Amino acid sequence: MNKKLFAELKKIYSKDIISEKEELYAYAYDTSPNPENIALPEFVVFPKNSQQVSETILICKKYNTAIIARGAGTCHCGGCRVKRQSVILHFSKMDKILEINKEDLIARVQPNAVIKNINDEAEKLGLFFPPDPSNLAVSTIGGAVALSSGGPRTFKYGSTKDYIINLEVVLSDGKIIKTGTNIAKNVTGYNLTSLFVGSEGTLGIITEVTLKLIPKPQSRKLTLAYFDDLVEATAAVNNIINSGFTPATLDLLDKNTLATIEKFNPCGLLYNKEAALLIELDGFLESLGYECRKILEILKKSNAAEIVQAQNEEENEKIWRARRSAFAAVTKLKPNVITEDVVVPRSKIVELVKGIQKICKEHNIIVCIMGHAGDGNIHPNFALDLSNKNEKENFETVKDKIFELALNLNGSLSGEHGIGCEKKKYLNKALDKGAIEYMEKIKNLFDSENIINPDKMF
Ligand SMILES: Cc1cc2nc3c(=O)[nH]c(=O)nc-3n(C[C@H](O)[C@H](O)[C@H](O)COP(=O)(O)OP(=O)(O)OC[C@H]3O[C@@H](n4cnc5c(N)ncnc54)[C@H](O)[C@@H]3O)c2cc1C
Repeated sequence: MNKKLFAELKKIYSKDIISEKEELYAYAYDTSPNPENIALPEFVVFPKNSQQVSETILICKKYNTAIIARGAGTCHCGGCRVKRQSVILHFSKMDKILEINKEDLIARVQPNAVIKNINDEAEKLGLFFPPDPSNLAVSTIGGAVALSSGGPRTFKYGSTKDYIINLEVVLSDGKIIKTGTNIAKNVTGYNLTSLFVGSEGTLGIITEVTLKLIPKPQSRKLTLAYFDDLVEATAAVNNIINSGFTPATLDLLDKNTLATIEKFNPCGLLYNKEAALLIELDGFLESLGYECRKILEILKKSNAAEIVQAQNEEENEKIWRARRSAFAAVTKLKPNVITEDVVVPRSKIVELVKGIQKICKEHNIIVCIMGHAGDGNIHPNFALDLSNKNEKENFETVKDKIFELALNLNGSLSGEHGIGCEKKKYLNKALDKGAIEYMEKIKNLFDSENIINPDKMF
């Protein structure tokens, strides 16, 4: 333990600091694959305000110690992982919804405000915050902003980046800045807000977020359509869009995903079908009736084998609960589950999904594939036993091949989970060399001593 560092932090945090090894373990993991020898942070501190964050950064700088911000720790890319002497800033004492302004359609929140809570409060005023990482019940806004999280509603509504209008950020020199103004429309100066969104906590620490809200859709209606052929399922996605519809959700689940969810959480999914599309429409009740009838016609023409339409909110929720349990369900199959995230143009989804299935079969790896078909964003969930050396090596090969496939299909490494330390070795294959150079210059400008979440992204 670095006793001098501890003494200085203790002055600020009193009891709000963790230094016991057993407790530090809880902050060493996120949902990325566990390394064999997990590194522990030196300390975890629980700031109550931006000033404390600023003082912490200056102290850490003095002791050449990295700072890693942490929300719920559910990121899949290793963004919260410790790679060198580090202090974790955990924001559980900064979780308030500070203001919801109905007339201006904005909310001001602290970094650990949970997305579901923000939405629940907004809904009480007839408002809506659409970004929905599927684990919205725990995901914090700080983590979602840092990763520009997406989720099943991105096709219609966009992702977190489309709803952030101002941030309070603490920089590596301890300065506390506002990146914008709390107004919906603003082109005054460079768009610094956008620079921080999706920067994976590598440029500064977010201590307050101003979000854009929209009026809450009056109603929603969910349809589940099953197909005997993956090609027909993806053709149906195009048929829906080309007929002028923009469903809030257009998610794809493959046969393995359907079967695994049903095993974990029996809810009547038809797991003998090759694929299912989960289609949710939202809007005014009167127009939804018309839209649902039209969607039904399109699905029938697209050769759907079975179609189920939720009749009420309870049935809606039942299907959503099943869909949200996909990741947890895969843990039924093997001791470890790893979720990947690749994105391709929508026209290439079939090639991507079939390619992933083929690669996994060749290397004897179990995969359940799901994704946001409207955006071309596919998540293979791998069931693994990482204590099996052979399987672990096979999985590394599978990963390399899947990223190569996505890039060859004009896609990219991540649609919404980010790069972190898990995918940084592939970055130079996915981005222009000159672009990476400028990204590194930006990192250096904001954090020349490389203490703010280092070892991530590059
Ligand atoms: C079951 C499951 C389903 C998921 N579904 C989706 C999905 O549909 N779509 C999607 O996009 N993601 C999804 N995710 C990934 C992830 O949960 C989300 O990206 C989530 O929004 C991350 O929030 P978090 O609070 O867990 O962030 P964390 O994991 O705590 O942090 C994520 C990153 O943000 C940084 N960070 C956190 N707080 C701050 C801050 N205050 N200032 C600066 N940097 C900060 C961290 O250093 C880290 O790099 C899913 C994860 C799970 C486990």
